[in-house]
Amino acid sequence: MPAADIVHEVSIMQSTLALAEQQARQSGAAAIHSLRMRIGTLSGVVAEALQFAFQALKADTLAAGATLEVEEVRPACWCGECRAEFEVTDFLYECPHCHRPSVDLRRGRELALVSLEVS
Ligand SMILES: [Zn+2]
Repeated sequence: MPAADIVHEVSIMQSTLALAEQQARQSGAAAIHSLRMRIGTLSGVVAEALQFAFQALKADTLAAGATLEVEEVRPACWCGECRAEFEVTDFLYECPHCHRPSVDLRRGRELALVSLEVS
């Protein structure tokens, strides 16, 4: 994988690892065993590149022996007519029940560290 392609993921991973270390230290932990991130498929972040960046960056951190789990979130919109969320399957964001287009994207842009396992 060419290095230039993962610049975005590397910078995200740097801040995620910094945050994880800060949280681990605050709870008095000496090591991080696993990190779990939630990534929306519309966030522009590639899970595979994130794993690559994690492997490259974790060595000098409390997460040196940790694993990274990436949970991908599929995009979903809210339909005001049906008062229901529906999963987006194309770029039209059309409600499958009433066929109205929605501009209210509720899921799919997540980019967050959701949990840590430390000791
Ligand atoms: Zn609808």
